[in-house]
Amino acid sequence: MAKKDDQDSAETRLARLILALRSQGVSEPAVLGAIETTPREVFTPDLFKERAFEDSALPIACGQTISQPFIVGLMSQALKVDKRDRVLEIGTGSGYQTTILSKLSRLVYTVERYRTLMREAEARFKALGLTNIITRFGDGGEGWPEQAPFDRIMVTAAASDEPKALLSQLKPNGILVAPIGKGPVQSLKRYTGDGKGGFAIEALTDVRFVPLLDGVAKEL
Ligand code: SAH
Repeated sequence: MAKKDDQDSAETRLARLILALRSQGVSEPAVLGAIETTPREVFTPDLFKERAFEDSALPIACGQTISQPFIVGLMSQALKVDKRDRVLEIGTGSGYQTTILSKLSRLVYTVERYRTLMREAEARFKALGLTNIITRFGDGGEGWPEQAPFDRIMVTAAASDEPKALLSQLKPNGILVAPIGKGPVQSLKRYTGDGKGGFAIEALTDVRFVPLLDGVAKEL
């Protein structure tokens, strides 16, 4: 497989990735389209560029990871994003998931606790000509109260418990998708507002995310 990948063009690798996502249940055309038009190699460190079209998570700076494309597709689909939505994303990381969300929505607000990752992601958004992403260096666990309420919220780091602060920044009929759990394997949960301050909660699948940490990183 690795050898075959070496010989194949970027186009073929991308087509194979899209097929793999489809076969695993990512069927929403807008989501597949966003993944298809986002060059993942731009978000991947030099050392791993060859593996950018593999359906696997890869290491990025600051000991973090760029999510697996299947999980990015699954979470984007689960969030049911509309072109008119304002979306809050917690955990910018490489900015790959942010870019997918920016193609599905009106405006994305994204928060990251590492300055280095934030700067690198901002440079990528600029290079790709994405103008509907607003970034913030800070503790995403607190959300972005000044810009709340949001139509949709996606958390791309694992919260140990129900993310109450974030749920309070969701519109009454909004949707929040987040990995919830303390261990190495978490449950991907979807909270759908019932319009009266309550939520329907669904467990979608098991996932492995880096933890949502308190405060901003002291290191760069
Ligand atoms: N969506 C990213 C995946 C990033 S991994 C991508 O596609 O590349 C999770 C990210 O969440 C890491 O960059 C980590 O630094 C960040 N993170 C963890 N806790 C956070 C917090 N409290 N506030 C903001 N970002 C946080």
